[in-house]
Amino acid sequence: MKEFNNIINGEKVQSDLNFAVINPATGEVFAHCQSADSGMVDQAVVAARNAFSTWSKTSQQERKAKIHAIADALEANMPELMALVTAETGKPMAGLNGVGSGMEVGASMAWAHHTAELDLPVDVIQEDEIASVQVFRKPLGVVASITPWNWPLMIAIWHVMPALRAGNTVVIKPSPLTPLATIRFVEMANEILPPGVLSVITGDASIGAALSEHPDVNKIVFTGSTQTGRNIMQAASAHLKRLTLELGGNDAGFVLNDVNVKDVAPKLFAAAFHNNGQTCACLKRMYVHESIYEELCEELAQLAKTVVVGDGMQDGVELGPLQNKAQLAIVIDLVADAKAHGGRFIAGGYPIDGGGFFFAPTIVADLEDGHRLVDEEQFGPVVPIIKYSDISQIIERANQNENGLGGSIWSSDLVKAAELAQQLECGTAWVNDHGAIQPDAPFGGVKQSGFGVEFGSYGLEEYTSLQTVKITKN
Ligand code: NAD
Repeated sequence: MKEFNNIINGEKVQSDLNFAVINPATGEVFAHCQSADSGMVDQAVVAARNAFSTWSKTSQQERKAKIHAIADALEANMPELMALVTAETGKPMAGLNGVGSGMEVGASMAWAHHTAELDLPVDVIQEDEIASVQVFRKPLGVVASITPWNWPLMIAIWHVMPALRAGNTVVIKPSPLTPLATIRFVEMANEILPPGVLSVITGDASIGAALSEHPDVNKIVFTGSTQTGRNIMQAASAHLKRLTLELGGNDAGFVLNDVNVKDVAPKLFAAAFHNNGQTCACLKRMYVHESIYEELCEELAQLAKTVVVGDGMQDGVELGPLQNKAQLAIVIDLVADAKAHGGRFIAGGYPIDGGGFFFAPTIVADLEDGHRLVDEEQFGPVVPIIKYSDISQIIERANQNENGLGGSIWSSDLVKAAELAQQLECGTAWVNDHGAIQPDAPFGGVKQSGFGVEFGSYGLEEYTSLQTVKITKN
């Protein structure tokens, strides 16, 4: 069985500790990964600190070229990376609506190329006979990236590429549930980057905590649960580290009475169920006008009953398993609570027998705000459909949820929908779509979904500090 190593200062390192990596489609161990200890955390940060003094001084052109080369390496190794992503996450190679490991690797390449081309402009505030005032964007130093298990490679790229582009060095810690594609990416990148610029250390929460507390880390970019975000923020306070926190979501979608139900149902279904509901910006609460409620519920139930669930390695599979047993247990618990509180199950509602962590795609009608399945992030293939009569009232009510990542309005009246979209308390509001991110538009949350943004020049700025240089000319 293949064993994967940590990479520090450009070298694979040996450790006495290791942990098993499970294929969620079978529940069986398919690889082993060596685990870092706190000494290796320190080694990786020291290597990054040392590499920073030269990497931060490389030219913009050199950094652009190296990031493009990394994107090319991802492309050259796409089949291997796809197989690793599918084996460790369970997501299908193609997947519902094209959302699978092919998309994960493809988007990683696209985001890397786009980030490579971003510029770090120098702003001229004043330039006259009295003074010259310029504002420079400078790298921060060592960035720690801590990633979750749902989109391990893509989120790694989202963190690492802008950090490197801005001239920082990076130590990444992937989720111990899905470390493998990240390790391969770092291996490939180390054939292009100088030693120490990008290291990977693996392990559980204690390794993440050691990295978050390390005095030589200047910034932490974290994607994961809200509770871990709070822990990291606390650890970061001792040394006033910069933070970008992309945390949990419980995105609401509002379907108005003027939609064509048959047209909109597959789009809503894909927005809610792609990656088996395990995307931060999946549509997780669906609010539907009473005049179309039963019809839309029925359409969604049909889609849930016919979508192909199975091992993501097999052709034609649209939804895989939950990524891990603990997440399956959360879904089972929320479903039991919904059953106990009058939820009407019109599709699914049960785990699927076998060794893997499968749960039948589930549509639950007749729940409201105040029920756990509506209020809490389910992160799985179960969606509550809530009936409403007054759109302003229901938006106000839904906005009371503590999360604020994304939201959407579905309507044939684009003007009205755009007005309503602005009433949603979230980082991104979509009209007639949901979760449609792009590398040049900022993405991030408000409220308990975190702060800071990723992507484009907005995201790049988060890896820099501004320095004003004022030259007084007499
Ligand atoms: P998690 O918070 O359990 O773990 C994420 C990472 O943090 C892992 O690498 C883990 O080992 C590490 N970690 C755990 N405790 C730590 C600590 N005390 N200090 C430092 N690191 C620590 O999250 P998860 O279960 O892997 O991911 C699912 C969650 O991520 C969901 O809530 C989802 O909504 C969220 N998510 C958010 C976004 C976004 O962009 N907002 C994207 C994807 C996932």
